[in-house]
Amino acid sequence: MDKKEKAGKILDILKKEFPGAKTYLAFSNPLELLIATILSAQATDERVNRTTPALFKRFKRAEDYAQAPVAEIEGYIRSINFFRNKAKSIKACCSKIAGGFGGRLPQTVEELIELPGVGRKTANIVLSGAFGVPALAVDTHVKRVSTRLGLAEKKDPDGIEEELTGIIPETRWGETSNLLILHGRKTCRARNPLCPECRVRAYCDYYSTAAGKG
Ligand code: SF4
Repeated sequence: MDKKEKAGKILDILKKEFPGAKTYLAFSNPLELLIATILSAQATDERVNRTTPALFKRFKRAEDYAQAPVAEIEGYIRSINFFRNKAKSIKACCSKIAGGFGGRLPQTVEELIELPGVGRKTANIVLSGAFGVPALAVDTHVKRVSTRLGLAEKKDPDGIEEELTGIIPETRWGETSNLLILHGRKTCRARNPLCPECRVRAYCDYYSTAAGKG
């Protein structure tokens, strides 16, 4: 079975396990998803979702963040890891959106990664989740799961994104991220993956070795 066919079968199985898979981050517009994604680095979605309602009530446009003192943004996100750096990133990023992009979030990876603190992963999450543009975000779960399954061999997220988008049709890029993230959290955990109960183990390279069965 080639990788394209294998990827299709894995995604079909995971889609049955996680119907309607989408990001758990709460947002009502593209800017909110961008801010929530920046906040979610090394923080749980639950924590971010508890924090953002007050933040989004106070700051509605990129200009609002751009004009606020960093200390005020910090005050709203203090319960999240690395809140000082994240507040700085949010302000810098929104200043660029307000200044360089006329207040509107750009809709291409190339433009989004021009924003301070925004890498390909964040850009792809926003494109796929908020704009419906085909994009495959590679986070730590996608990286680990796709490597174990044998769908990707490269070590860096950009390389893995290239490999996955080469074997998965673009209509499935968004759901691929969401499904692999959910599978990584629930079953294919970083330490002690729950292989015996994994629904895609028949297609998994890791499981087919002694490491997976031991
Ligand atoms: S069989 Fe194990 S290593 Fe392979 S995808 Fe499932 S949980 Fe992950």
